[in-house]
Amino acid sequence: MTVILTILVLAVIILSVQQFLRNMAKQTALLAALRKSEAVLAEQVDFNQQVFDSSKAHLAVVGPDGVILAINTAWRRFAEENGGGDESIWGVGASYFVPHAEGWNDAALVAEAFEGIRSVQNGQCSFFNLEYPCHVPGNEKRWFVMHVAPLQKKAGAVLISHTNITPLKLLQETLQQQATTDTLTGIFNRRYFLELSQEELKRAVRLKHPLAIALIDIDHFKYINDSYGHSIGDQVLVAFTQICQKNIREIDLFARIGGDEFVVLLPGASRELAHEVMERVRRILELLPINCGSKPVLITISVGIASLASEQETLDELLIRADQALYLAKGQGRNHVSLEQELL
Ligand code: GH3
Ligand code: MG
Repeated sequence: MTVILTILVLAVIILSVQQFLRNMAKQTALLAALRKSEAVLAEQVDFNQQVFDSSKAHLAVVGPDGVILAINTAWRRFAEENGGGDESIWGVGASYFVPHAEGWNDAALVAEAFEGIRSVQNGQCSFFNLEYPCHVPGNEKRWFVMHVAPLQKKAGAVLISHTNITPLKLLQETLQQQATTDTLTGIFNRRYFLELSQEELKRAVRLKHPLAIALIDIDHFKYINDSYGHSIGDQVLVAFTQICQKNIREIDLFARIGGDEFVVLLPGASRELAHEVMERVRRILELLPINCGSKPVLITISVGIASLASEQETLDELLIRADQALYLAKGQGRNHVSLEQELL
């Protein structure tokens, strides 16, 4: 009986040990699997962070409540380089809805940015882009574009990126300048003048305001080139431009439309006022020698003025009448300002 009991106890013990060993093996396998998945997860997180950090754009993940959930290296570096010592303002845990960089001092722009972010957060828009200048006083000019996109699996959360587009903007500015200004004098070129003038003409007709145009041609400019050289001729053109610019109003459009031919469009001016302005310029030039190096050069100009005669008149027609007045000024011995009415 005792033997049977002992055998039974032993059997139970053996079975229990076997069960224990089986459980242990299962747990070890589970633990190993867990460790493996933890390693895979850590690798994935690390990979995601690397992707996040390798972006040159300044990235921040912002939660539905506007709190910053994550930032990348570029974001951190930018904040630090731009005087952002205080991470509580721009770091994880801070509210995004405060202006971050000093350049964001344009209240309307800030409001537009925040409204755009909220529109993506609440699903009104699928994305939002905003180009903005970030010109820190005493620093170089910079421009950025902000892009806001929703996070796929977290409602109300967005990824906000700020990309520096300064080289592109500078190129755009250069191209814009080249397309609109005269290389020698820096004032508007013919093409841009005509474009702006069309708008001024429409406005004058709509508001029933007067509008005048003055065509200017330097007298005997070929003689100046021949006597002093082309380079001095160039300097004379630049100096003339500066003198003229100082004596017209800020709202007037001033352009070089040919070699020694210039034009001034005077919004709101009657032909009498335009005559007064151009007479002043003519008199200054007549009396004031232009200093080109050691050589003082005296120049005179002839000017033809026309003013808007009817609502139907086109810019071309106005320019033709101003040209006819200019022709008259030349015919009257040059150094003269002619009004179109003298044509009658
Ligand atoms: P007028 O009184 O009849 O106007 O006589 P003008 O000698 O001024 O004759 P015109 O206006 O026809 O001549 C303009 C001259 O301007 C001809 C050209 O050699 C010169 N010119 C054109 N573009 C430039 C330039 O960029 N630089 C210089 N230095 N001269 C130029
Ligand atoms: Mg001339």
